[in-house]
Amino acid sequence: MTSGARLVILGRQGAGKGTQCVRLSRHFVVPHISTGDMLRAAVREDTEVGIAVKEIMDTGGLVGDTTMVALVQKRISLDDARTRGYILDGFPRTVFQAQAFDEMSVDQPLHVVLDLVVPREMVVQRLSARRVCRDCGANFTASGVEPRPWTCENCGGDVVHRADDTPEAINRRLDLYESQTAPLIEFYGRTGRLVEINGVGSPDDVFSRVTTAVDARR
Ligand code: ADP
Ligand code: ZN
Repeated sequence: MTSGARLVILGRQGAGKGTQCVRLSRHFVVPHISTGDMLRAAVREDTEVGIAVKEIMDTGGLVGDTTMVALVQKRISLDDARTRGYILDGFPRTVFQAQAFDEMSVDQPLHVVLDLVVPREMVVQRLSARRVCRDCGANFTASGVEPRPWTCENCGGDVVHRADDTPEAINRRLDLYESQTAPLIEFYGRTGRLVEINGVGSPDDVFSRVTTAVDARR
């Protein structure tokens, strides 16, 4: 039986991280910690953090490192993450965040960092058609003939078009990925924690590559 793991999933927007994370979280029975989902919930609930980050998020910018580090530190100190582990999705996104994360997790270090590799040309169109469940994070693809309102087949939540899945914000996020997040690949590679996964293929094929890689490292 597979159970417990501490993972980071990297990969450019639209690489299929969300889909893989939802499955991995069930498979390893660990919480899926998506910083994007946490921030979107904060925006929806009009919390202090939510109000501060809304515009940055809508335009595809990056939220400040100190805000992000504090948010994640708080989340991984909860019982479920301490006892079972977690899948970190969307964090770290800068070398600063990765270093801060290493410091806060010295007692329980990461097992592995996975980089889901998909070419940039493949993802822009995918992101424009992407729809996301607000509650469970499941991804769907719009075809033009959707039910309205559209509810999630897994959990009944609202399926919505993310405010930042517009061509402008998508391109800005992809550019920031190259400049800020891609250096993490080198950071984790140097410290022997990185495994590259070919993200091209059916979700089932990619999932089996991912679980094989994780099992080899736990
Ligand atoms: P995507 O990977 O599709 O860009 P996410 O859902 O991971 O989307 O994040 C959405 C937005 O939330 C980002 O564009 C950014 O504004 C903010 N965000 C999420 N995680 C971080 C982070 N670790 N550092 C800075 N900003 C973040
Ligand atoms: Zn759902």
